[in-house]
Amino acid sequence: MNDDYDYAFATRAIHAGQEFDPTTGAVVPPIYMTSTFVQDGIGGFRGGYEYARGGNPTRDSLQTLLASLEAGKHAYSFASGLAAEDTLLRAVLTPGSHIVMGNDVYGGTHRLVNRVHVPWGISLSTVDMSDLDAVRATINPGITKILWVETPSNPLMKISDVAALASIAKEHGVMVVVDNTFASPYLQQPLALGADVVVHSTTKYIGGHSDVLGGALVMNDDTVAEKVGFLQFAVGAVSSPMDAWLTVRGIKTLAVRAERHSSNALAIAEALVGHPKLDAVYYPGLATHPGHDIAAKQMSAFGGMLSVALSGGAAAARTFAESTTLFQLAESLGGVESLIGYPSEMTHASVRGTELEVPDNVVRLSVGIENVDDLLADVLQSLDRL
Ligand SMILES: *Cc1c(COP(=O)(O)O)cnc(C)c1O
Repeated sequence: MNDDYDYAFATRAIHAGQEFDPTTGAVVPPIYMTSTFVQDGIGGFRGGYEYARGGNPTRDSLQTLLASLEAGKHAYSFASGLAAEDTLLRAVLTPGSHIVMGNDVYGGTHRLVNRVHVPWGISLSTVDMSDLDAVRATINPGITKILWVETPSNPLMKISDVAALASIAKEHGVMVVVDNTFASPYLQQPLALGADVVVHSTTKYIGGHSDVLGGALVMNDDTVAEKVGFLQFAVGAVSSPMDAWLTVRGIKTLAVRAERHSSNALAIAEALVGHPKLDAVYYPGLATHPGHDIAAKQMSAFGGMLSVALSGGAAAARTFAESTTLFQLAESLGGVESLIGYPSEMTHASVRGTELEVPDNVVRLSVGIENVDDLLADVLQSLDRL
């Protein structure tokens, strides 16, 4: 059913690219732990497989699944989200090209462009993606090649209007790339909204169990796909068979996980609004969130990520982040277990002193799929201790 998009998401998440093994009937396709493939005479490849950097059946099964979930024609998987991003940037940009990014993108994405690609002759502008006039003014026709959008963004959950940005970019022949890591394809389908390429850190919701790193690119355009496919092979930041298999294993429950992450986070966000120890709750599912209407239009639910600003400043934020029990203090997000983080010294330490700096009273919660009453009690008890 590789190309069959008639099935609903939850069905595709379990079956796309996952046919049973024809030799044994094993319901779960085997993990092809092999670096090379026997040839029936020189150039006689079985199923097209030659050497695993170029292709491995386990990686292919993940790529078919990812293409199906984002309803795209082509998908490529990589060893990490940043490896996927780097591959796309190399495929699209040449020295002299200009890229425009949101001023709140993932810190590692900004660092990759600013510290790796800029020294090779790329120019970078950051802009508030919710200000469409500012975006229009930042595009340099003919020179700007990519508009890089991340929505919801990290850690303040800002929402960008993907359809509106795609129409602006199209007027100028600029490619729209959406980092869909925070939403996951279950909650948001950027290609259908007009984006050209979707990027994922599959390390987060797609893998979903905090046990594997990975990244992915999904697109419809054949020319871009051919360049990305060539670089995946020629540069080689590929997913291993074990990583690809673990990611597939995680994806099978993405639909049910995303529902529970979203309902848990919404319940916690609503319970925290107006709490005396907090100045603000950032969650796009709250009607008071400035991006709520756009989020409601382009997402099917609001996801598992939320942030809070502590009225007691940096000291209170640090104490809060260090005193929860179920919410474990760690980088990353999107796993079944709840995590808490202090962005200004953890995920966003690399952007301190830049326009992307995060206020030091902000704490970020990755709400897992544990029992919501247990999670809320953990958060409230920790706030009470401040
Ligand atoms: C984690 C993350 C990345 C980078 O992915 P890695 O798998 O850590 O390389 C990119 N974008 C977003 C939004 C992320 O959260």
